[in-house]
Amino acid sequence: MTTENIGSSASESTLLGVPAEIIEALRNAKRVLIAAHAHPDGDAIGSCFALAWAIRSIGHDALVFNEDGMPSFLRFLTLPGPVLTDPSSLPCDPDLIVVLDCGDRARAGEAIQPLLDRVPTLNIDHHLGNGMFGTLANWVVPEASATGILAARIARALRTPLQGAIAEALYVAVSTDTGNFSHGNTTPEALRLAADLAEGGLRIASVREKLDNDFSEPRLRLWARVLGSARVLDDGKFAAALATLEDFRATGTTREDAEGIVDRLRRIKGVRVAALLREEEKDGKVFTKASLRSSGADSVRDAAAQFGGGGHRNAAGCTLPLDAEKTLAVMHPYIRFVWNKTV
Ligand code: 5GP
Ligand code: MN
Repeated sequence: MTTENIGSSASESTLLGVPAEIIEALRNAKRVLIAAHAHPDGDAIGSCFALAWAIRSIGHDALVFNEDGMPSFLRFLTLPGPVLTDPSSLPCDPDLIVVLDCGDRARAGEAIQPLLDRVPTLNIDHHLGNGMFGTLANWVVPEASATGILAARIARALRTPLQGAIAEALYVAVSTDTGNFSHGNTTPEALRLAADLAEGGLRIASVREKLDNDFSEPRLRLWARVLGSARVLDDGKFAAALATLEDFRATGTTREDAEGIVDRLRRIKGVRVAALLREEEKDGKVFTKASLRSSGADSVRDAAAQFGGGGHRNAAGCTLPLDAEKTLAVMHPYIRFVWNKTV
């Protein structure tokens, strides 16, 4: 039995695991705009690029939009074109928008909202609780390790060879969301895809070198500072680290440099929930982005959802209009519910 949700009007037929209506929409569209969630991670960018390459391989135009542009840690990827940050500057509307890896419409960013109101949209994702905001079709597969898995199925259905730039993009998408094929969401399909990409000529060690060994010294200092003051609470079940505006200022780093810290906190034996609480400033106000991680049946998504956030069972996030210290105080009781729910 499948739990794939392809929307109320979906047909049952699939082409290599892709709903027929998705393939039909992609084949019919001549100018496609591809978007993902703001503050993009490897899956957001990787799946956008992979889909852009696949659409181009059938001779149609595909542009990629992201409100925050291209993250510097992925600059090594071969771009299908510059990442747009202002879609209103386009000379005309696309005839289709595909939103990838985005659990709710608002996370795609403000700049694209007017276009989403008037252009037919496909919503392709793997987040639990996706808002099903696609106006043409919704294809949401929570069992998929990454949205990149769905992009790979589409590329195969469009007969795009998974080689070169598209292979790198797919590898980045799937390896990022599975913690380099180690998290509980690592499926046989993800492992098979990696094997197929390697067989097609992808040099995995060379991509890993670019993904893993790219720290600046300031970034290392930030990690030392933030991890150095990490707190282990609740008899070792909860590890929290605060990355304050002062930490970023003192080390000359940006919020992107904090990416990955939360996974280090998970290394402590016995920790069931790890949290990184990262401050940011917008319009003179301080906000804190919480990144939560857990394993197995412990659901941090349920905790994040209490604050308007979301994600996956073992990786979720939310943003509170408070500084990091206050965010910790407010979220702490909700975090304790995570391990009290499951034994
Ligand atoms: P991260 O902590 O790495 O930013 O995000 C972990 C997971 O939670 C990702 O799948 C991400 O898309 C999701 N996530 C993070 N923040 C939010 C949020 O504010 N809202 C929702 N719906 N999902 C989030
Ligand atoms: Mn993802």
